[in-house]
Amino acid sequence: MPFTPNRKFKQSPRLIVAGEGLHYDLADGRRVLDAIAGLWCVNAGHRNPRVSAAMKAQIDVLDYASNFQIGHPAAFKLAQRLAQMAPAGMDHVFFTNSGSESVDTALKIAVAYHRARGDAGRYRLIGRERSYHGVGFGGISVGGIGRQRSTFGPLLNGVDHLPHTLDLARNAFSRGEPPHGIDKADALEALVSLHDASTIAAVIVEPVAGSTGVLPPPRGYLKRLREICDKHGILLIFDEVITGFGRVGRNFASDLFGVTPDLITTAKGLTNGAVPMGAVLMRGAVHDAFMQGNVSAVELSHGYTYSGHPLACAAAMATLDAYTEDGLIARAAELSPYFEDGLHSLRGLPGVIDVRNVGLLAGIELQGWASGPGTHAQAVAQHCLDESGVLVRSVGDTIALSPPFTLERRHIDQIIDSLRAAIAQTAQATDTAA
Ligand code: PMP
Repeated sequence: MPFTPNRKFKQSPRLIVAGEGLHYDLADGRRVLDAIAGLWCVNAGHRNPRVSAAMKAQIDVLDYASNFQIGHPAAFKLAQRLAQMAPAGMDHVFFTNSGSESVDTALKIAVAYHRARGDAGRYRLIGRERSYHGVGFGGISVGGIGRQRSTFGPLLNGVDHLPHTLDLARNAFSRGEPPHGIDKADALEALVSLHDASTIAAVIVEPVAGSTGVLPPPRGYLKRLREICDKHGILLIFDEVITGFGRVGRNFASDLFGVTPDLITTAKGLTNGAVPMGAVLMRGAVHDAFMQGNVSAVELSHGYTYSGHPLACAAAMATLDAYTEDGLIARAAELSPYFEDGLHSLRGLPGVIDVRNVGLLAGIELQGWASGPGTHAQAVAQHCLDESGVLVRSVGDTIALSPPFTLERRHIDQIIDSLRAAIAQTAQATDTAA
């Protein structure tokens, strides 16, 4: 099983047998509130009626069509729809099947873009510490999680990392963008001095780092990265696999923070998690380099058997309808101050050392425990599930929350109450153990 202590799982398997709206039914008969929207993906609620209906209709018309040298209209329609939804100027799309594929695709496009323009010396890729960009060799190379990198090295050549932006000493309990840390972006200038801009192809960051603990960007940080990239002809990639499609209360985090990158990677919320699909969005100028540049008849030698799969296109189109026509992204934005107030009411509980949030995305950082990193957060997550039927996720020492946008205030109350009780209970157990 992926990212799972398999041996432990075998002893006490937890199985989900059904889902509807905000809830999962477990094999033991319990109905639980899914406060993480699957794996940050079921933004419009489980078995969203629009999505289910569209998939059922599609399967009776066209099951599969390749997009190699022949296409089908739904993929082009979806690409157009995405371009309309994306920040201005991001008007071309390449389809993948996952976040990992989107990341590796974007990195490859970035390198190939420079070559198409006759600038083949630009091969270096710059990621950031404490970032997660999926599990491809490209993704783990630019990714900033030591354990995932060391297990599989050697990785891609010519990769560097910016420092991460978490600063508990100065920024704990900030609401939204923390005030301190814009200067962390200047590390990019240092890398440019070290390697020379003429060797650097792209920088990739998650606008809000997700799986490494939910880290919103310091105020002004993304804008400064954009300025430095522009100055040196470096492409900027935002990995919006989590933050895309309304999670932060706007279509994309790029909209919220007012910074448009050159490429955006997406997946997850694109199809509401109902079927695998990812997409890389790019600026017209990136696309045009391939059409006009020094490339062969096949402009981009890259793609997947299931790129733009008809079933995924149908699911995505219906999902985007749910986000826009049912007003779900607006709803995420409306609910976010209430969510924020609830979360910050946990401040002062034993072991709670930070609360971070943007839109309907949040992390509650818990004091590390003597028995190892993450133990405290895991215990809290377990209590939430067992005592009050709320499914949250522990990532390291952080409890991560990303509920479906269809929730109501009473569900937010339920999540916060569940956490309050679980944190108190865990603290008590820790005291007793000590
Ligand atoms: N990038 C980010 C920011 C992610 O959060 C994830 C998945 N959590 C990925 C990439 C990889 O996506 P997938 O698991 O669909 O390959």
